[in-house]
Amino acid sequence: MISKVKSNWISQKGYLPKDAKIIKYVLEYKGELLEIDEWMPFPQDGTTYTFGDKDDPGDDGRPLPIGVLIYLWEHWDRITGNCPYCNGDVYGFRFGGFLSSGTMFGCCLECYHKLTRSTSGLAFTAQEITKVLEPTKYRIKKMGFGHSFAGPLQSLYAALRQLGVKDI
Ligand SMILES: [Zn+2]
Repeated sequence: MISKVKSNWISQKGYLPKDAKIIKYVLEYKGELLEIDEWMPFPQDGTTYTFGDKDDPGDDGRPLPIGVLIYLWEHWDRITGNCPYCNGDVYGFRFGGFLSSGTMFGCCLECYHKLTRSTSGLAFTAQEITKVLEPTKYRIKKMGFGHSFAGPLQSLYAALRQLGVKDI
């Protein structure tokens, strides 16, 4: 179950129906996708961290893997919440930023509105994430100061098609 914190997601102009659709599919096929490859990137272009395996010191990490994102959705209050328009479920999928300021981007799975939430910057957010990921093998490997690590969409799309999804 997702714990719902009181929403402080802020409305933005615009809709993200494509991202909402992918998030829904990732939630629907979570078990299957994690079995195919938990390290495949979630398609996004604004997360300023890479993630890798804590037991592999030579691993520079990959752009936001689905295993990490799914775990964060389930265990990190800041990345979920409710939509200020329709009270629907909001899921974040891009986060990080600069030293002392940052933004999390998300969208509502009901009305598809684009939403943001301000974060306290790259290092603070990294501390929070590190704490949430502590019981797992996932670790932040690199932080980009204003530089983000984009995740290509091909592997996730291919995996979803393999699972029978047709409309992506
Ligand atoms: Zn909404």
